[in-house]
Amino acid sequence: MQPGRDTKAELNRRSQVCEALAGTGVRVAKVDLIVVVGFLKRRNNPAMMIPAELVPRLAIAKSVTVLTGAGVSAESGIPTFRDAQTGLWAKYSPEELATPRAFRRNPRLVWEWYEWRRKLVAGAKPNPAHFALVEMEGLFLRFHLITQNMDGLHQRAGSRHVIELHGNIMRTKCSDENTVVSSWKDMGDIPPKCPTCGGLLRPDVVWFEEPMPEEEMQEAMTASTHCDFFFSIGTSTVVYPAAALPSEALRSGATVVEINPQPTPFTPQAHFALAGAAGVVLPELVRAISALRRF
Ligand code: NAD
Repeated sequence: MQPGRDTKAELNRRSQVCEALAGTGVRVAKVDLIVVVGFLKRRNNPAMMIPAELVPRLAIAKSVTVLTGAGVSAESGIPTFRDAQTGLWAKYSPEELATPRAFRRNPRLVWEWYEWRRKLVAGAKPNPAHFALVEMEGLFLRFHLITQNMDGLHQRAGSRHVIELHGNIMRTKCSDENTVVSSWKDMGDIPPKCPTCGGLLRPDVVWFEEPMPEEEMQEAMTASTHCDFFFSIGTSTVVYPAAALPSEALRSGATVVEINPQPTPFTPQAHFALAGAAGVVLPELVRAISALRRF
């Protein structure tokens, strides 16, 4: 170690590292100072607001559960429900289109809106947030990924087990029989008709005012109430019952982290609120955990 300013800086770094690791169980002697100091520095970068004390605590977690919302796919070009609709759809709000009532009133309008969204999804690619979540799956003993998204981008990125709470926009079902329909003859009807019973076809998603799929909801609840760390990412936490999961995790003793560039009703309760885009914050978090884990 060089005397003078470098020595001072080095001592200062070491004390920052010790402070960050206090009470985490990570042995300071084994930590690569350069790596840890790297993320301590990045803490001051507004784009990477990862609190220094978060990474060492997360690095020793055994069980992690993640809840994602529309914000995770925003960087793939799929608009969230809070974004203003554009073009043809500017005069409608998603809440007016994604309901059984809207479908009964105007099935053609609702089908066409979903056709437009399906095309967006088909042309979209997973973004760095989706890929970082694939990596996270390999970093913890138990890892659960719950999503409110219907776009299938987690699966396309490589996540193996995804609990889909709101269905999948690429699937179609019969609105009368509630069964998945994978093919039908194009007779020019919009929406097309069920080849078995002639009922109207609709996307296999959960609309506002509809019940949640029981099995998925049960699995999501168990994963949320049995984890060390819970992440709420890219969700406005206003669409219930999914929005209750972060509070359930909190009540069960998990450390709860929110990642969202905007505050949400849940932000004041989160242990850590990282105000940044998921595609920026998540890869950085994964890099920092992986680096710490190597020692
Ligand atoms: P939401 O539209 O209510 O909220 C999106 C949230 O994402 C907002 O809080 C916003 O600040 C945040 N956000 C925006 N960009 C972000 C980014 N880059 N990184 C992190 N966060 C970002 O979405 P919701 O909470 O998921 O709930 C609304 C409903 O919308 C759900 O039922 C969901 O099924 C449906 N939805 C799904 C998709 C999809 O499948 N991609 C798209 C739109 C809506």
